[in-house]
Amino acid sequence: MTEPLVVVEGLRKVYPRGVEALRGVSFEAYPGELVAIRGRSGSGKTTLLNLVGGLDQPTGGRVVVDGKNVTELPESELLGLRRDVIGFVFQSFGLIPVLTAAENVGVPMRLARMAVAEREERIRLLLALVGLDNHRNQRPYELSGGQQQRVAIARALANRPKLLIADEPTGQLDSQTARQIMELIRALVRSENVTALVATHDPSLITLADRVLELRDGTFLTAEPAATSAT
Ligand code: ADP
Ligand code: MG
Repeated sequence: MTEPLVVVEGLRKVYPRGVEALRGVSFEAYPGELVAIRGRSGSGKTTLLNLVGGLDQPTGGRVVVDGKNVTELPESELLGLRRDVIGFVFQSFGLIPVLTAAENVGVPMRLARMAVAEREERIRLLLALVGLDNHRNQRPYELSGGQQQRVAIARALANRPKLLIADEPTGQLDSQTARQIMELIRALVRSENVTALVATHDPSLITLADRVLELRDGTFLTAEPAATSAT
């Protein structure tokens, strides 16, 4: 039996002014699995992904990523987990404007103190993987939205993460570009053997996912396998 990479148990989050964003959410995600998290705005998708990624603390429950209890890790180890085990992709791309595409991809590698030669090689490989070999020296404002998100995806994969967390990665893209980005994520999950948790409204990702979890008001509706719901 393969061990799950992500285990979430009874996760709760109450925000300061009493908003109950998650009311006891549980699931597991396995290596190489692409899990879509669907739900209307305000259903708790971002809250869930932030807790899984160790970007915020839950009110109750447990998150285990790669055998580590994220909710109990000291800050120093959490930093290591976020740097080495998890890659993040956000709706707004989050690239550093003064850096080129290649430099943006290299940022997490610098943080992990990867040697220069290895870094250069990995940047080349990742930019090729996302189809941007010819755009390495362009800055974010010189790239289209879809290209910026490709750079962000390459950056998320910089340190060979086991887990990719993407929060509405196509939310700012037109539908055709969104489809291409979703297909890229689908292909990368296979080729890099990462686990991906992707929050989305996007019907085209839903059909590409291995599994769909639907959030409503902070709890999961019964999950359906994508293969049966898509037909
Ligand atoms: P989604 O990503 O599905 O749109 P969110 O996780 O962002 O949902 O939000 C879930 C609920 O928690 C919403 O009611 C939202 O208003 C609330 N919420 C999110 N972030 C905060 C915060 N920092 N403080 C207070 N309430 C928040
Ligand atoms: Mg959100």
